[in-house]
Amino acid sequence: MPQTENVDVLIVGSGPAGMSTALHLMDADRNWNGRVVIVDKAIHPRDKLCGGGITNGGDNILEGLGFRYDGPQVVVQELELIYRGHSHVMNADPVFRVVRRNEFDHWLARRGQSHGLTLRQGEAVTSVVPKRDHIEVVTERAVFHAKVVVAADGSNSTVLKELKWNRTAGQARLLEILTSEAPDDRAFRDGVAVFDFSQAGSGLQGYYWEFPSLIDGQAFLNRGVFDSRVQTKRSRAALKQVLSESLTNRGRVLADFPIKGHPIRRFRSDSPVSAPRILLAGDSAGVDPLLGEGISYALGYGQVAAEAIVDAFARNDLSFVSYADRIQAHPLLSGLKTRVAIAKLIYWPKLIWQQELAWRFSSMILGGFQRYRQGFGTRP
Ligand SMILES: Cc1cc2nc3c(=O)[nH]c(=O)nc-3n(C[C@H](O)[C@H](O)[C@H](O)COP(=O)(O)OP(=O)(O)OC[C@H]3O[C@@H](n4cnc5c(N)ncnc54)[C@H](O)[C@@H]3O)c2cc1C
Repeated sequence: MPQTENVDVLIVGSGPAGMSTALHLMDADRNWNGRVVIVDKAIHPRDKLCGGGITNGGDNILEGLGFRYDGPQVVVQELELIYRGHSHVMNADPVFRVVRRNEFDHWLARRGQSHGLTLRQGEAVTSVVPKRDHIEVVTERAVFHAKVVVAADGSNSTVLKELKWNRTAGQARLLEILTSEAPDDRAFRDGVAVFDFSQAGSGLQGYYWEFPSLIDGQAFLNRGVFDSRVQTKRSRAALKQVLSESLTNRGRVLADFPIKGHPIRRFRSDSPVSAPRILLAGDSAGVDPLLGEGISYALGYGQVAAEAIVDAFARNDLSFVSYADRIQAHPLLSGLKTRVAIAKLIYWPKLIWQQELAWRFSSMILGGFQRYRQGFGTRP
């Protein structure tokens, strides 16, 4: 029987949400180092299915910690938004950056370790039981008595399953493939990414994407489909078929590539994000239902979770009743509600004329954004 370990804060998961929580605690006060343990079932560098697109929101949070990711990446300077023969082009430096998650998450983990944080890898959490004055968390190697647990263990969160929080509703679906490309392809030469919403007519509540990506120095396009399922009553799109058709239109055959899928949890303002002694962060709490962006939001959740924890221990009140309000007050996370509203609007239409209308409406939004950000253009 493993020995019981007492800890103030146990963070389950060392992805962007978990590491951001730990790094923000450490940033608040170095003394937190000895009071926090992070456990992860995987060992970095571990694979994580993801497009790897990180926007300014995430960069700003890292910069707030004094970090800048300088590992392998492709800087996207042009984003093409396509809908049935129309396209908008957005130029910025950068629109976003594309990283490989095994490298980015490993870098984040090393940041924490080099600052003295305790990260235990290859140690899965198997049981979580709230007790009167602590949470009992059983891993493959230990029994923890934690004053606070942060569930940063992703969209299939074991912590949530163990707590019997029914979170099967609200999952977006994603499929992804990688295709080898010539290094002088325009996507790499000019840093071009694509979001194609044309398949919305097939019931897809999302889009097909192409992100230029570097894997061990080789050029690949990360291609996939995102189905937000934000309109829950509409029938499900045949996701594999949607991906197959999108590839056929680009001269590729889906059967030639291994296909991988993984859900992400959509943010819903009516879903609980905390309980006494428990905080959710990142995918377990819910991320962007409009575009499926999750890395920057996960980093943002970590910042809010750390602030809530510091405040809770200072006041000796571990109820975390105001955690949802803190999320709403965060400059980045407060935008999630707006993204839910836009997603419901643009993924609502069933008929082509309704979609055309929604596309024109979104053109107006993009036009406003264009005036806000220099270098943003529209093609007829
Ligand atoms: C196909 C696809 C493409 C995507 N593309 C993008 C994109 O381009 N840009 C973007 O911003 N977002 C993208 N996302 C979303 C993004 O990947 C997630 O939102 C993000 O990874 C959430 O971070 P997280 O830290 O909450 O969870 P995760 O990154 O999933 O980390 C969770 C961690 O918890 C660990 N863990 C899980 N269970 C246990 C357990 N029982 N015990 C201990 N540890 C455990 C895991 O090993 C993992 O390290 C994509 C998602 C998918 C599926």
